[in-house]
Amino acid sequence: MTGLKVENLSYSYGSKTALDGVGFSIEQGAFCALLGPNGAGKSTLFSLLTRLFATTQGRIEIAGHDLARDPRKALARIGVVFQQSTLDLDLSVYRNLSYFAALHGLAGREADRRIDVALEQLNMAERAHERARDLNGGHRRRTEIARSLIHDPAVLLLDEPTVGLDAAARRSITDHVHDLSQHQGLTVLWATHLSDEVRDDDRLVILHHGRKLADGVCADLRSDQPLSEFFLDVTGATA
Ligand code: ADP
Ligand code: MG
Repeated sequence: MTGLKVENLSYSYGSKTALDGVGFSIEQGAFCALLGPNGAGKSTLFSLLTRLFATTQGRIEIAGHDLARDPRKALARIGVVFQQSTLDLDLSVYRNLSYFAALHGLAGREADRRIDVALEQLNMAERAHERARDLNGGHRRRTEIARSLIHDPAVLLLDEPTVGLDAAARRSITDHVHDLSQHQGLTVLWATHLSDEVRDDDRLVILHHGRKLADGVCADLRSDQPLSEFFLDVTGATA
């Protein structure tokens, strides 16, 4: 089964084309890195996947549901971590998650159970009652990832989730999300401009100027080049 399918997707801001006929599909349970420099179109793609923007050209399918035809079912299956943090800094970790659960119609014991499981998965259980403002950047990000799991999504979308974090926090979050796809069968789309977050057995889609320039298993694509070099070659950038 396909976790996420995008077909011939285009999007323009006025006369500025941000996505130009992009298509790829991700198998259920796979981790797919969407690698592209700033301005590649990654966040635009996320806005279409989450229906923040209406898709005018192309097609999106999430866990078997066509986003245009069956938006409620499709959206119910995705968990999202946006590029900009959306935590309420004055609330505790637990309150941030329980508020989100309530938005999804979850309350009481069932909500608490899911919150516990999600925090456990991100190694955040012991911080449940700390204020979001008092957490470091890595722990804030982990809180957001835990929050994105509460309604039991099939597809996890993360837009540059490690921006602004130090190397250790970056590593830990990258590891956690790889674990989620490997052990929980979550389909993951991980947008980044940093090639060192991509592993050899990850699926890799390279996006540049709104076009897909490479698509395959990372190790096959880069062959005997380091990924950072392959990425620069493909995008035609200079170091
Ligand atoms: P990325 O997330 O990969 O950095 P974006 O999707 O944010 O890329 O941007 C893709 C292109 O669309 C860029 O050239 C950007 O300048 C342009 N763009 C993004 N948002 C807007 C907007 N609201 N209005 C006009 N152009 C935009
Ligand atoms: Mg972006």
